[in-house]
Amino acid sequence: MQDRYSSPEWTVDEWLQAWHIRVGTAYRCQECSNMIMVIKGGTGTLEPRCHGKPMVAVEPKQ
Ligand SMILES: [Zn+2]
Repeated sequence: MQDRYSSPEWTVDEWLQAWHIRVGTAYRCQECSNMIMVIKGGTGTLEPRCHGKPMVAVEPKQ
């Protein structure tokens, strides 16, 4: 039972940032249905745009 939840490449700060920009969050363009997905967290806020409009976050069904 050691370090099962921590990877050598991820610090606590990186995890917190990943939660801020959640990994796995998908965004969809309402004009063309183009989709992107977050595969790695980052700092700040993510505002993807397509066709000049903000892409809409697609929440996973629960
Ligand atoms: Zn588009």
